[in-house]
Amino acid sequence: MKNLKQTDPKVYELIKEEEKRQKAVLEMIPSENYASKAVLEALGSVLNNKYSEGYPKKRYYQGNALIDTVEILTQERARKLFGVPHVNVQPYSGSPANTAIYFALLEPLKGKVLGLSLAFGGHLTHGSPVSISGKYFKAIPYHLDKNGLIDYDQVEKLALRGKPNIIVCGATAYPRIIDFKRFGKIADKVGAYLLADVSHIAGLIAGGAHLSPVPYVHVVMTTTHKTLRGPRGALIMVTEKGLKKDPELGDKIDKAVFPGLQGGPHDNQTAAIAVALLEASKPSFKIYAKQVVKNARVLAEELTKFKFNLVGGKTDNHLLLIDLSNKKVNGALAAFALEVAGIVVNKNAVPNDPMPPFYPSGVRLGTPAITTRGMKEKEMVKIAFWINNVIEEIRGEELPKDKEQRSEFWKEFKKRFAKNKKLLKIAGEIKILCTKFSLP
Ligand SMILES: *Cc1c(COP(=O)(O)O)cnc(C)c1O
Repeated sequence: MKNLKQTDPKVYELIKEEEKRQKAVLEMIPSENYASKAVLEALGSVLNNKYSEGYPKKRYYQGNALIDTVEILTQERARKLFGVPHVNVQPYSGSPANTAIYFALLEPLKGKVLGLSLAFGGHLTHGSPVSISGKYFKAIPYHLDKNGLIDYDQVEKLALRGKPNIIVCGATAYPRIIDFKRFGKIADKVGAYLLADVSHIAGLIAGGAHLSPVPYVHVVMTTTHKTLRGPRGALIMVTEKGLKKDPELGDKIDKAVFPGLQGGPHDNQTAAIAVALLEASKPSFKIYAKQVVKNARVLAEELTKFKFNLVGGKTDNHLLLIDLSNKKVNGALAAFALEVAGIVVNKNAVPNDPMPPFYPSGVRLGTPAITTRGMKEKEMVKIAFWINNVIEEIRGEELPKDKEQRSEFWKEFKKRFAKNKKLLKIAGEIKILCTKFSLP
């Protein structure tokens, strides 16, 4: 980055500092990953300079012959990898992709979306009242049962009663297998479109470590930067089943993405997606995907030995949701302390969480990024041990019930624990471990 260093030493320094941080810690936010150097090179290429509104062979700007080839190649790779007849590779990211799907298939203010409630692990774009998906369309939320599992009977009842136009299956914080087949039956029964939002698990699906929704749903949306390990971006795929239900489905979605919602596609991003799709089609990616799941399972087993309470009981995929209530430790405090110790996770609500979203009762963590670095079962055992030590260190730190006292306590807690000796000692040990596992 010698040019950047010369032109803008400030931004250069910030990037270098962030690189150092990423190297020195265990990145365990389940939606994060490390894209390869090849992906980053495509992303940082001259393709950034081009405007290409429209689709291959139907552009509104000149000079797009090569861009057409890039976009067609990306489409071909996505269709082949996921086994779908139609794909749109232009969405800027996952949220705009879901918005485009709703725009394509729902009547404004009248169309209905049945999706997993945000508080139970759904995404903002699945009908949350603070999101455009809940403000411009009618949202019908479904919940998890008391064991932290999707209650398919409840989904069916809500679908029969509410007659949604779209049913969304998929989540941001659900550690178990999703029964796409059952969702397919429910959607067919009420004549709804079924959208599988596999943003979190697309890499596992591509690598054969998770069942594919393709035979059972009409539309599949995924981000490209989570387990799929590409640049930020998204794919909207239409399945055979989708085209059978509605032969115009592909066209409707393409029109909703452009000109409906977006302008020019990010061609550098498209090229980087192509690279990620190629990488994901290699045998080594299958090994990666299996290892992600294996690592998550070992981590879950080890944490269970320390009496951590896992939502859903265990994990089938790349992530774990820990309910810390039995430890008498709040999720926000835990996430902060873990970061001081070099373990980066996010605080997360648990099903029926009595706490507000800023101080939820749980933390969410996953294995995609650390598995990219090459960590395996042996490291997971160590990580579980460290996590337990961190939580033990802050046990008894009680968050006051009163709102004002609470924010005072939070400030003071951060001050105290930012310099905690035991936590910093763990951070040092993790830094040493991390030197053995390089970033791409
Ligand atoms: C991450 C995610 C999204 C949104 O992706 P962004 O790229 O952050 O907009 C949508 N749905 C699910 C299930 C996700 O996990």
